This record gives sequence, structure tokens and C-alpha cells, in this order.
Amino acid sequence: MATAAAPLTLSRLPHPAPTAPDRRESAIADPGFGRVFTDHMVVIDWDEANGWHNATLGPRGPIPLDPAASVLHYAQEIFEGLKAYRLDDGAMALFRPDQNAARFNASARRLAMPEIPEELFVEAVRQLVLADADWFPKVEGGSLYIRPFMFASEPFLGVRPAKQYKFVVILSPAGNYFKSGAPAVSVWVSDYTRAAPGGTGAAKCGGNYAASLVPTSEAFANGHDQVVFLDAAERKWIEELGGMNLFFVFDDGSLLTPPLTGTILPGITRDSLLTLAREEGLALREERYSIDQWQADAASGRLVETFACGTAAVVTPVGRVAGRAHDFTIGTGGPGQLTGKLKQKLVDIQRGLAEDRHSWVMRL
Ligand SMILES: *Cc1c(COP(=O)(O)O)cnc(C)c1O
Repeated sequence: MATAAAPLTLSRLPHPAPTAPDRRESAIADPGFGRVFTDHMVVIDWDEANGWHNATLGPRGPIPLDPAASVLHYAQEIFEGLKAYRLDDGAMALFRPDQNAARFNASARRLAMPEIPEELFVEAVRQLVLADADWFPKVEGGSLYIRPFMFASEPFLGVRPAKQYKFVVILSPAGNYFKSGAPAVSVWVSDYTRAAPGGTGAAKCGGNYAASLVPTSEAFANGHDQVVFLDAAERKWIEELGGMNLFFVFDDGSLLTPPLTGTILPGITRDSLLTLAREEGLALREERYSIDQWQADAASGRLVETFACGTAAVVTPVGRVAGRAHDFTIGTGGPGQLTGKLKQKLVDIQRGLAEDRHSWVMRL
């Protein structure tokens, strides 16, 4: 469903009672992740007759929803995740927000939802971040996590694409993910699968996450931090973690990451790291890699590092892998050299400390 890119401006609704400065300061002193929210939100409606309309930036609060709203029954929902960073000179910036907008629309197409003009998506994010700039956590490496999402609001129990939607953006101050010496994570190889060929694996939809909760709980129960999913057809090829893409580093200095075949979420961090690694002249392969080969290569020393990547934690080393049929350590079990180097390169660009050759940084 294409939508005409009619210019639409956000109306500002006054906030009757913004959070008092002292309460806000204590909320953002140690925000953690995903539990503190700012004062405002953006809401934009869509229906068949009007397209995108009724765009507001107003007080954050509950959204009235009919109990028959399709999203509550058939999970027609998609989302994005990006961050506002603090540049070295004190200004705030977004990182490749156009890519989040494009991916949001790709997810919308897969879930039979209307696309939103990319400029409207980015403008909604930009204005909201500026409106709640006071909520930017003052901790080193802190950020404002931005969560745009869209859901089917039409009250209708028939099974077909809904005819009414809401696009919403909220903000959550996030703490420091950049603590030096971040520990390597331990991952659990699940017997459950995340995405089948022809399914929704490449779409960022809530349904994928709902289905990953049992395997994630299983990983926790077995003493691990994250799940690693194998492909659904052969149960052999490594795909990704529940919410992060994977990279493998070999003793010849080359890198491998699984290819985007439709069952893996096309991460923007993944794409950025591939670009940076290519610039470094590293040998790169986007190829399938099997769980048995991963174990054999870790044992022989051919595989020296593995890391996961995504917006929330940027780059996280994987130190240990276990499952019903596997148990092995990668390298020394701690963060690897190339992992650290690539992470630093990316973080330096995001913070305005390194040259932004690809115009990835959008200063606010
Ligand atoms: C969002 C997400 C990622 C990471 O994408 P980024 O754009 O790098 O944040 C990876 N896998 C899944 C399943 C995701 O939902």
C-alpha cells in the first residue's frame, strides 16, 4: 500500500504537567534500559479515507484502544529501534535514521500495513528528541533510545489487513553500554527456530519477539545470556541472536557474517560494520556458517573471535556457546581484538570523534 508523500506537520499539544526537574534528574541518573520514559510522544493516525493524518507531538500517556483492535488478536505490529547520541561537541545526533525509516517500510510491506513517508518518520523522531532533550542521560555513553512503532487499531475480528493504524514514537533514556571491558556473553543454541523461509524473519515485528521468549527463557534457565537461532529448514546454519546479528573472525584476519536470505533481520549495525571492515581492507564473506563448523573452528583455533551487533549494545563479544549438542569457548572466552577495534571505529563515528565519510550522522 503506497501512500502519497503529502507534507504533514506535527501539531504540538501542550503538556499539562511535565515531570519536575528534580524527579527527571533522578530518573535519568541511572536509567538502565527500557524502563524510564520521557514526557512526550508522537502519534499519527492512518485510515483508508485520509491516509496519514492527525499528527501530534503531545504528552506521553495511555492510548485508548478498542478491545477488538486487530493488533490485540492478530499481532499486526512493527517497530524500530534507534538512538540519539551525544556528539563530542555536545550536540545530539541520530545515526542513519533514513535506514530505520526504510526498514520500517519494508516491515510494513511484509505485515500488509501502510508505508509512512520516510521524511515524516525522520521528522517525527527529530522533533520528539528535541522536545525531550532535557531527558538525555548525563552518564558517560548514555543515549536516548527511540522506539517508533505502528499497530492495527481497527476494531475488527475478521482476518484481513486492518484499515486503521497508529504510528507512535516514544523515547527511553538509556544508560552506558560502552563501559570498557564489557564482558563477553554466553549464548545458548536453541532447538526452537526464529524464522522460516517465506516467514517474517526479515521484518522487525513484535510477533518474532513473542516467539523468541520461550527459547530466551530456556537460555536464561541454562545460565546463558542470549539465544542463538539456527535455520528452520536444516537446523544447521547459524542465523542470529534473538535481537542481534553475528560476525565471525578467523585467524587470517577475515570476517564472515550470515547472508540476508530473508530469515535474518537486516541490521543497520551489521551493514555499518561491513562497510567499515571493507574500508579497512579486511576480507569479508557473507556466507552460511554451520554450528558444527563453528565448534570445529573454535577448537582448532581457526576461529578466533565472534561478536553480536545491534543498536542497543552496538558490539558484544560472544565468549561461550552451548546447546544440547554443543559446548565450546571462543578464543580466550573474553573480548577479541578485532571486535574491539571495529566497535571503537563505529562508536567514534557515532560520537563525532572520527570522520563521517558516509554521512551517517544526522546532527540535530
Ligand atoms: C533490530 C534487530 C537486529 C539489529 O538491528 P540494528 O539495526 O543493528 O539495531 C538484529 N536482529 C533482530 C532480530 C532485530 O530485531
